[in-house]
This record gives sequence, structure tokens and C-alpha cells, in this order.
Amino acid sequence: MSVLVETKGDTAIVTMDSPPVNAINRETRKGLLEAFGNLASDASVDRIILTGAGSAFAAGADAREFDLPPLEPHLPDVINAIETCGKPVIAAIDGPALGGGYELALACSYRLATPMAVIGLPEVNLGVVPGAGGTQRLPRLIGIAKAVSLISEGRTVKAREALEIGMVDDVVDDPVGFARGLDLEMLGSVAPLSTRPGPDADNAAIEKARVSAAKRKRGQTAPSTAIDLVAVAAEKPFSDALEDERKAFLKLRQSDQAKALRHLFFADRAARVPDDLKSVEPVKVTTAVVVGGGTMGASIAYSLNATGIRVTVVEMNDEARSRAQANVSKLFDDAVKRGLLEAQVAEERQAGINFNVGYDDLPPAELAIEAAFEDMAVKKDIFTKLNAGLPADAILASNTSYLDINAIAAAVPAPERVLGLHFFSPAHIMKLLEVVRADRTGPAALATGFELARRLRKVPVLAGVCDGFIGNRILARYREIADITMIDGSTPSEIDAAMVEFGYPMGPYMAQDLAGLDIAYANRKRLAPTRDPNRRYVTVADRLVEAGRLGRKTGRGWYQYEGGAAAVDPAVEAIVMEEADRAGIGRKSYDRSEIAARLVTAMINEGFDILQEGIAATPSDIDLVLVHGYGYPRWRGGLMHTADAIGLDEVLAQVRRYAAEDPVLWSPSPLLERLVKDGGSLRDLHAAKK
Ligand code: NAD
Repeated sequence: MSVLVETKGDTAIVTMDSPPVNAINRETRKGLLEAFGNLASDASVDRIILTGAGSAFAAGADAREFDLPPLEPHLPDVINAIETCGKPVIAAIDGPALGGGYELALACSYRLATPMAVIGLPEVNLGVVPGAGGTQRLPRLIGIAKAVSLISEGRTVKAREALEIGMVDDVVDDPVGFARGLDLEMLGSVAPLSTRPGPDADNAAIEKARVSAAKRKRGQTAPSTAIDLVAVAAEKPFSDALEDERKAFLKLRQSDQAKALRHLFFADRAARVPDDLKSVEPVKVTTAVVVGGGTMGASIAYSLNATGIRVTVVEMNDEARSRAQANVSKLFDDAVKRGLLEAQVAEERQAGINFNVGYDDLPPAELAIEAAFEDMAVKKDIFTKLNAGLPADAILASNTSYLDINAIAAAVPAPERVLGLHFFSPAHIMKLLEVVRADRTGPAALATGFELARRLRKVPVLAGVCDGFIGNRILARYREIADITMIDGSTPSEIDAAMVEFGYPMGPYMAQDLAGLDIAYANRKRLAPTRDPNRRYVTVADRLVEAGRLGRKTGRGWYQYEGGAAAVDPAVEAIVMEEADRAGIGRKSYDRSEIAARLVTAMINEGFDILQEGIAATPSDIDLVLVHGYGYPRWRGGLMHTADAIGLDEVLAQVRRYAAEDPVLWSPSPLLERLVKDGGSLRDLHAAKK
């Protein structure tokens, strides 16, 4: 039974019960419709409490129904039955009341929440709008301004804020008990939201939401539709507006963007321990060593410490140790400034991080994460010392961006303990963790990596060893084709604009300026001896670095930053032209869609090679890497989902067109060719790997 009804005296308690979070499915809707139908005609009941079993009210629609046609009875019918049952209904909310869950609460006369409640209408995050009255009832409850910002941003709020905004009437520890004591006369005087006059129009708030959506949800349809619908609340009668809302909801549900966002919703949930590791016991990590307290090491140490792991940071000399200490302190200070940590808690936690010079005095750690310079000799030396200084079964991980973990593992006698744990910068914020399996990495080391990701609330993706693993390998290809496109007929700012239009928060050149141009430069130098002499190579980035233009940190890179903001630098464009002349290139002119097509097609083709080589296990894993680590637009569902949306035959045709221009830079992935030939799809590939 997914809905239980219990009657005590004059009060009926209706409990939604579909574990774990009471997602609303067909059974729940049927159960609620029946319960409210019966209670409406039960003369002995004069108060109804609607609640959820366990520690959730209802967390929204059941994901298993996402891709099915809408099944009867529909949620608006259930909501109508609640509103018209003729008796006061009180929503008693604990935990999540989201989407359809909160729409049910909006049909009630009164809303009570525990301090643990999380409330909102986050539908736009799945590419749709509320479809059961949310866009009309919420503005009637809290006004247009607050409703439009919450709904168009898909923002959820905790109980206290919900109370301040007016989304709930009270916050109490025991809402069911409290509901029993509420005054019946007061409850009876509350008019259902659907019968209240529409809210006052607020054009300024609507305009503000449009500007914000154009910036923060660029390219997405659902937020602007949501804004239109909230605006309508002030203009049309409730029933007409409700029809508009339902129509918009049903249309959006079928849209490519909603499909892409649903795909990622499922991919996110699937990003857990791979099947073959499920029975493997991870090492229980209570103490860890982090080698290097620079950009990455400091934030890795900070993240480990936040989960209760005791951390020792190892640096190479006193000066570096002081810098590492300052790096870690800054993270704590920032957290305090932003209100994320209380000053005293920050101080106590920080006291739990030790800073050592050298390896003489290491704690008996179960895990070490190396985040020192990106240099094979340095890394091998560190692993040799970690091997000598830590217990014989400690797991040893490297945060290397590109280097060969097999070669690093060869520095220790038990390479099954060695793996890659590739964090992204800033490591305490970015969700992605590539868990890199080297040839001889053992299951316990991998299982420990996945367990650590869970504790750090990160999205883990298993990757094999190659230059750059999944993410940086695709990034290198993206940058290569960006450079070629630039030299052949574009400029850094045109390429950035094209990729921003595609949906990235920033283009590849702006991103390089932010990260610093020196790391990629060092990497290119490392790879220079193995570069194919027949492969075109664009030297503009090298010239910038050699002129001391390392990006934002030096005030100049691909752009110049004299006034603080990025400005196009004619000197860079002059270098581009000079290099193009020198290479004898007759420059073409690319429009934005052509630029994006070239860069995205290059990445997709690389993605197929990565799958073929087994570096990534599934297409969804690549999607997760690009979305959580590289700013790929979530509403496009990730890189490989984009390939599916374009159509694999079209992608292949595109690669072949580019290969006709330059067969060295472009060669169709054999896996892509095979899938097109056999009429296969990425979905089959995914299923085969599972
Ligand atoms: P960084 O230069 O900011 O920090 C490196 C730190 O390591 C310095 O504090 C240095 O003193 C210390 N160090 C160097 N050799 C050492 C040794 N032998 N023993 C102890 N400490 C030593 O570099 P970073 O950006 O933090 O990068 C560290 C590693 O993480 C590199 O392998 C890099 O490729 C990788 N990485 C970097 C990023 C990024 O965006 N910066 C992202 C992912 C991975």
C-alpha cells in the first residue's frame, strides 16, 4: 500500500508510503484520490493530516515514470480532490517536499514543517515546469516576486527560510501532533489557494527573473516558460492559467532538454561503486597523508578533514610548509567569511591538520594522496618514500593530471596499492573524482577510492590509464581543435563566444587564462618528442607563455586584464595573424555554429576512442566527467548524449568532412564507424557494458 489512512476520533491521517523518499507514482496518486474521496463523505472526520512515512513528505515524481506517457490518475486531479474535499487538510512535512510533493502541500489549508524539511519546486532542473498548479498557487501564497525567483531558478529552501518566505505556516518538531491541536475554526476560514484572487502583477520582478535566467540558465527553455506562467497568475483566471501550465508541462516533458537532464539525473545516481567492486571491502580511512600543500593538496586536505579524517600534509621544506599552512588557512577563512563554518569550528578543525617537512615522522595512515609537482621523477621519488614511511598496506594515490600511473606504481613493490585519484580544482568544490585504475591496481584500492568519493560527496568515475585519463584527454583534443579553428579563420574571443553560446559558462581561452597557461605549456613540452611531425601544431599559446603571458595571474594571457575584466588584446590577435601568415594559411571565416560543431565533434570522436580503448566504461561516464569537471552544459546531457541527440550517422559524416580537409588531425573513431554500420546506438553500448 503506498497510501495509508488511519482515523482517530475526528482526525484522519493520510500517510504516503513509498520508500525511500515517497516519490509520487501511479499507486500513490490512486491511493490519495481514493482516500480523499472516502474522507470527503465520512461525516465522522472533520480534520485531515497529510504526511509522509519515514523522513520524507514526498520528494517529487517517481523517476521510474519519467519516460512513460503520463499515467492516470494525474496529479492535478489528486490535488483538486484534496482542495475540494470540504475539510481542512494540514500538510505535516518532514524531509523533502519537492516538486509534486510541495504541490500537494499547496493544495492543503495549512502547512507545517520540521526543521529538517527541504521545500521547493525544482522542476526546471529536470527541464520541465511544475505541472500540478505550482506556478499558480505559489504566487497566490507568497507573491509574484518570491515565487518567480524560486520556480525559475529551481531553488529549494530549508524549513527556516521557507517559513520566512511564507511557503509554510510554522516550523515545529512534531507537525502531526501539532496539527491535531490547531484550531478548527481558524483552519475552516482558510480559503483554498485556487479560489483566492490572483497576485498583484510585478513586472519588475518578472523582468529581473528574465535577466537572471538569460544569464544563469542560458539556452534553457524551462526557466523562461516558468517565468511566463508565473506572470500569467496575475493576468488570467486560475482555471485558464492552470490549463496553460499543464500544456507547457506536457510539451516540455517531451523536449530534448528534458530528456538530456533526465539522462544525467539517472547517470548521477548510477555513479557509484562498479558491480565488480560491490563485494570488496574498502580500507577504512581514519588518517591520511597529503603530499604537497599547493592549490590541489591544500583543498584535498581541507576536504578530507571535513569528513573527520586526520590529515598530515607533507611538504618539501620549511618555506613550502608555511605556504601550505597559509593555503589551508585561507580555505578555512573563506568558509567562515561565507558563513559555511563557525569560527570556532574552523579553528578546531584546522588544528586537526598537521604539516610536516619530509617523510621521517609520518602517521600510520591508511591512505596517501600525492599532489606535488607534475613531474614523473618527483612523483616516483615521493612514492618510494611513502612506501618506506607508511604501513605496508596503505593505499597510495596520485592526483596527477596526465602522467602514467603505471610508471608511478612501478616505484613501489606492491603496485596493487597504487591508483589515481584525480580531483578537480578547486577540489573542495568540484564534484568530479576520476578514480584511475592502473594495470595492477587491486580491487581494495579501487573500492577505497569509491568509498572516499562517497564520503566526500563526489561523483566518482572509473577511468583507465592514458595521457589525461578521460577528462583531460578530451580537453587536450578540444584545445587542439580550438587552436586549429582559430588559426584557420577565427580569434580566441570568437571561439569563446561560440562555446558560451553552445552552453559552456566560459570558452576555452578564457578558461585557460583562469587556470594559468603554464601547466598546459609544460605538458606540451613533455609531449613534444612524441608528436607526429605531420600533425599541424599551433604555436600561439607557446608564444604567449614565452612572453610571460600566463593568464589572469600575470594580468595578461589570451586576454588582457588591466581594468580587472577580460578585454580582447589586439596584440594576441596580431600574433594569431602572424602565425597564420607564417604557416601560409589562407584564412576562412567560421560562424559560431560552425566553430561549436568543430570543437564538439572533435570531443565526441575522442570520446568514442576512449570507449573503444576501455578508458571509460560507459558513455554516461564520459557525460558525467564533462558535466561535473569541465563545465559542459548539463542541459545537453553530456558529451556522448549530445552525440546521440545529433545522430551517430550525422556525427560520422561530420568527422569525415573534416577528415577530407585534414586526415591527420581527423580520423573517424572505429567504434563510431562500427556503430553506424551496424545501426547500433550508444544506448546498446551502455547496456552491453553494464
Ligand atoms: P602546486 O604547484 O600549486 O602545488 C604543488 C605543491 O607540491 C607545492 O606546494 C610544492 O611545494 C609541493 N611539492 C613539490 N614537490 C614536493 C615533494 N617532493 N614533496 C613534498 N611536496 C612537494 O600544484 P597543484 O596545482 O596543486 O598541482 C599538484 C598536482 O595536482 C599536479 O600533479 C597537478 O597536475 C595535479 N592537478 C592539478 C590541478 C589544477 O587545476 N591545478 C587539477 C588536477 C590535478
